[in-house]
Amino acid sequence: MQTESAASKLPIVLTCASCGTRNRVDLARHNHRPKCARCAAPFALDRPQPVGDADFQPVIDGASVPVVVDFHADWCGPCRAMAPILQDFAASRAGRVLVLKLDTEASPATAARFGIQGIPTLIAFRGGREHRRHVGMADARILA
Ligand code: ZN
Repeated sequence: MQTESAASKLPIVLTCASCGTRNRVDLARHNHRPKCARCAAPFALDRPQPVGDADFQPVIDGASVPVVVDFHADWCGPCRAMAPILQDFAASRAGRVLVLKLDTEASPATAARFGIQGIPTLIAFRGGREHRRHVGMADARILA
């Protein structure tokens, strides 16, 4: 099932949620439980990774695999309902698709830049560019 393309061997850049250090993470080696080089906090690539205004663009630009971003907010009921679906998706595609979540309240600049009007909104990126989007609850599989 696990097919390794050349692209999947390229690292992506993720920001450590604990200390803010940017780390190169090799998606093809996600089973090795990558850790932050500075503080050793683990990157759990089988679940959506939080991103914000500061690191959104570098992560998208640095991704060597398709990226799906969940634009959400804490107060949004449908977003919470969709969280387990997204979690399953991230787990089943770990190493092949990077799943991110962006809090639209905490990171309004990125939400505005992509014209997010309703949440949840899922946007799939390929090669750093928007590929598809879906507004409202959805299974992320429709995008990737
Ligand atoms: Zn760290």
